[in-house]
Amino acid sequence: MQDSSLSQLLAPAAGHRPSKIVCVGRNYAAHAAELGNAVPAEPLLFLKPPSALIGPDEMVLLPAESTRVEYEAEIGVVIGRRLHGVAAEEAFEGIGGYICANDVTARDLQKRDAQWGRAKGFDTFCPIGPRVASGLAWDDLEVCCRVNGVERQYGRATEMHFPIPDLVSYISRIMTLEPGDLILTGTPAGTGPLVEGDVVEVEIAGVGTLRNPVGRATP
Ligand code: MG
Repeated sequence: MQDSSLSQLLAPAAGHRPSKIVCVGRNYAAHAAELGNAVPAEPLLFLKPPSALIGPDEMVLLPAESTRVEYEAEIGVVIGRRLHGVAAEEAFEGIGGYICANDVTARDLQKRDAQWGRAKGFDTFCPIGPRVASGLAWDDLEVCCRVNGVERQYGRATEMHFPIPDLVSYISRIMTLEPGDLILTGTPAGTGPLVEGDVVEVEIAGVGTLRNPVGRATP
């Protein structure tokens, strides 16, 4: 699949949305530790609603329900073809490309709730962009996060506890992955708060830089 058709699948403004956004928690040991958690024995999965998607330069809106919203820079995997119950090698071949993603999280609500649908699911809590890049080696990928130009996070895909092909395989055994579906592969250490007026950037070399301003939601 060409970059452009994958990008079309993921263009929220054009009404194209993935059928699901599957996220992986605690996939970098250092990030799990900073929140007082161990790395899980099996991938820890949760979902973000497609309604949370925004694109480059769109505003992340801080909801009134939360007093602590944090950035989580992540390597996004875009599924290129239908995958159901596949082994890691076939899963890897079904990856259409990679995209910068920000798993924006209401940390206070995440700690309060047993399930994370609220903390992870507000509108604008899933910025992605600036494009889908294909032809990259997954184990060369690096992701970093800057807030107002200052680097806050840096991680390599090779530091993930569950590598990308294994994650895609694992998820495909639970739910059929459709073209355009997104997987957010976990965030490295260094997560922190966003406040009104910030500009948050997620960069993956070879993919580009996703930049979003931060504002306040109007009730
Ligand atoms: Mg995350």
